[in-house]
Amino acid sequence: MDKKRVYLDNSATTAVNMEVIKEMQPYFSDAYGNASSFHYFGRQSKSALDNARSKVALLLNASPEEIFFTGCGTEADNIAIFGILNACGKKGHIITSKIEHHAVLYSCKYLEENGYEVTYLGVDKDGVVSVEDFKKSVKDNTMLVTIMHANNEVGALQPIAEIAAELKKINEIRKDKIYFHTDAVQSAGKLRLDVKKLNVDLLAISGHKFNGPKGVGVLYVRGGTNISPITFGGHHERGLRPGTENVACIVGLAKALELSNVNLEANNKTIFNLREKLKKGILDKIPEVIINGSGNKAVDNILNVSFNYIEGEALLLMLDMRGIAVSTGSACASGEAGPSHVLKAMNVDTVVAQSAIRFSFGHNNTQEEVDYALEVLPKIVSDLRFMSPVWKQKRFENK
Ligand code: PLP
Repeated sequence: MDKKRVYLDNSATTAVNMEVIKEMQPYFSDAYGNASSFHYFGRQSKSALDNARSKVALLLNASPEEIFFTGCGTEADNIAIFGILNACGKKGHIITSKIEHHAVLYSCKYLEENGYEVTYLGVDKDGVVSVEDFKKSVKDNTMLVTIMHANNEVGALQPIAEIAAELKKINEIRKDKIYFHTDAVQSAGKLRLDVKKLNVDLLAISGHKFNGPKGVGVLYVRGGTNISPITFGGHHERGLRPGTENVACIVGLAKALELSNVNLEANNKTIFNLREKLKKGILDKIPEVIINGSGNKAVDNILNVSFNYIEGEALLLMLDMRGIAVSTGSACASGEAGPSHVLKAMNVDTVVAQSAIRFSFGHNNTQEEVDYALEVLPKIVSDLRFMSPVWKQKRFENK
């Protein structure tokens, strides 16, 4: 019999929706022309590309000329950050947060090592940046603000529209505009994104986080923004992202974004109920657990829990052996030593942070899957704690 498999790692990636696959299918072997070619095959692909661009623009409340397709979310973030700074033609100050995804954080670290000044804003215990801190961090030479919309480890939502409103006031009395980029990779498909309401200049999303294909992203760039390409080649994507467009995946991304918007409320309700069921079950059945992030100002699909006195990595492996896929979110998972930079910024104790697990839900998950996780988890946690000298010591002290 096949082993039971439960996928609770939907913030890492999601299954591609069957309707999305159907929509993509013709662009692999029938309508496979290069969208830059002038013949029939090329025109077919160009038309699909145009339709996808219009669809994405409509869903983000942008205009099609403001939509640029990229190879992934990471690339969209990089084009936004380096593209704005390169266009400025001088070095200056950047404001970001301590909880960014590495696509932004490591870009900022690189820039810092290469003569830029970077302010990394801290967050509160729920993982949220303060608008006041942001206001205080603006300098005469600030060029770019890059703050994520929803955090990928705890789901915390950042006050993007509020920061944008403050930035607008600041920009009104400055000569050189400060641009605002947001990494919305984890909020796309979970919230209705409206670039006008968010009032950002640049916004990045990635297809594979909302049941679309991997290896395709979008960068929204507000009309009139002074931005340069960071790679060079053809005139694709109006020269901002040269390279033959991946038409099938672009069509898939547009369809997936459309479907996630159509089903948003229903999907979010399912996901919220599953997350709350798992949270309640864990709190009821397992002692000494800590929920990281409040969940009030957060997307519905993430539950980050520290199981004190055990290593998150060990728990991940044991859960995997029982068919349950989760993530630690810690830096260790990406080959680095140390606890998660996000939990560290939230002032979570290092040992507690190292015992954290991220459960992330998708609309395909079921109540039965959560029941299975709740059946398996307490025993694994108890077995791992049985091997932990700190846990034993604590039990001894409490006797
Ligand atoms: N930004 C955030 C917040 C993410 O969670 C991710 C992926 O996990 C990325 C950027 C990178 O997206 P991609 O995998 O498409 O490069």
